[in-house]
Amino acid sequence: QALPLPSGQEEKILVLVRLRPLNDKEISRNDVSDWECINNSTIIFKNSLPERSMFPAAYTFDRVFGYDCPTRQIYEDGAKEVTLSVVSGINSTIFAYGQTSSGKTYTMRGITELAVSDIYNYVERHKEREFVLKFSAMEIYNEAVRDLLSTDTTPLRLLDDPERGTVVEKLIEETLEDWSHLKELLSICEAQRQIGETSLNETSSRSHQILRLTIESSAREYLGADKSSTLAATVNFVDLAGSERASQSLSAGARLKEGCHINRSLLTLGTVIRKLSKGRNQHIPYRDSKLTRILQNSIGGNAKTAIICTMSPARSHVEQSRNTLLFASCAK
Ligand code: ADP
Ligand code: MG
Repeated sequence: QALPLPSGQEEKILVLVRLRPLNDKEISRNDVSDWECINNSTIIFKNSLPERSMFPAAYTFDRVFGYDCPTRQIYEDGAKEVTLSVVSGINSTIFAYGQTSSGKTYTMRGITELAVSDIYNYVERHKEREFVLKFSAMEIYNEAVRDLLSTDTTPLRLLDDPERGTVVEKLIEETLEDWSHLKELLSICEAQRQIGETSLNETSSRSHQILRLTIESSAREYLGADKSSTLAATVNFVDLAGSERASQSLSAGARLKEGCHINRSLLTLGTVIRKLSKGRNQHIPYRDSKLTRILQNSIGGNAKTAIICTMSPARSHVEQSRNTLLFASCAK
């Protein structure tokens, strides 16, 4: 069980924005970069276009990271505190949010590796406790949950457990032996996700991927310590579906139904995050989507949450980039 924080000290959601460099495709079509991080917390739209005069020019967040910033810095400056809290029994979630090709997967891969490596270092340095690490991975596509450690694509059911909250039935949970075992499991997930991609047509832009690490620890008995001081917590690394799916689903037309369905988890997550950022005494609609049900105990309340909003600097993506910043503004 997570250690309860004194009331009134719930953490707010940490909101980080990462600008990626222009890519080769953008450079080859003479696209230009319209955004710039002018300090640690402010990103500006630097080219005033007459038709864009309605844009606020500057946006401020907990931290912003420019196009030449390595993932390690994003980890050190924000993600680390959130993810490492898991070793002291506090649940946490770190999300990557942004349009397709903005750098979500690139960022989450780096963050996951750095976090897990730090968790292992922590375990090494704390021999007075005994740690058990478990790993599981799932994908949510069209509100169906699939195990990324299994070749079986049958959707998994969510069950309500009175003690543990929402549980994903039959989800494989591997006890980690060491760092190389984790690397092996990560490549299995990667392969499973790609199989989905070819058969379901660009799945990765429509699906949410959750990598989950559960850490249990207890004081070693030989120290005569109190065995009851057992801690257990979960850290979730979430690579969200492309955020353009959220705006598309609001457009009318033949794809509306499909769009709504595809995006239920993304839209509900937006609502949950907006309500959490507004403060307490609100009904938080965790139960409205699979994603928010699965993550309920790891977002809000005593849990630590960070969102890394990734964006392309290209003028051709300015509308999506602005949507991403508006989402980020609602979360802080
Ligand atoms: P998404 O998951 O949001 O669709 P990706 O993470 O796949 O986007 O990134 C799209 C492409 O851009 C990939 O080739 C990736 O390597 C590259 N890329 C993304 N972010 C960065 C970055 N910060 N620096 C360098 N290359 C990046
Ligand atoms: Mg991706």
